[in-house]
Amino acid sequence: MSKPISGGCACGAIRYECASEPVMGGHCQCRDCQRHTGAGHVSAFVVPRTAVKVTSRPKYYESRSDGGNAVRRGFCPECGSSVLADNSGMPDMVYIMAASLDDPSIFKPGVVAYTASAQPWDYIDPKLPAFPGMPKM
Ligand SMILES: [Zn+2]
Ligand SMILES: [Zn+2]
Repeated sequence: MSKPISGGCACGAIRYECASEPVMGGHCQCRDCQRHTGAGHVSAFVVPRTAVKVTSRPKYYESRSDGGNAVRRGFCPECGSSVLADNSGMPDMVYIMAASLDDPSIFKPGVVAYTASAQPWDYIDPKLPAFPGMPKM
């Protein structure tokens, strides 16, 4: 992956740059991610918080994950694009939505989480390690 990686929301109000390689990335098929995206799963990767610079503060929606952590999903208040997220279980990390990247093709999913709530029409590469709930790292 070339550095720094960059991306943002659909309208351009939120832009970010990240000076770090992704620590990990994957798909999440939990119901919260499905509702948040309106699709079958979220595709996102994790980077160190200190490596991320964001131009404008997203609006956050907070909910409690099945694992008991507070998950804050950041989206653009102007255009609604899902851009960033936080998880209280990993306070030093930021989740970045893969399709918010300027070049989304650089995203390399490595795992699938919450397959227990996967939808039958949501096809994901069966070669990826899959977990019915939160992956054990
Ligand atoms: Zn926007
Ligand atoms: Zn999820």
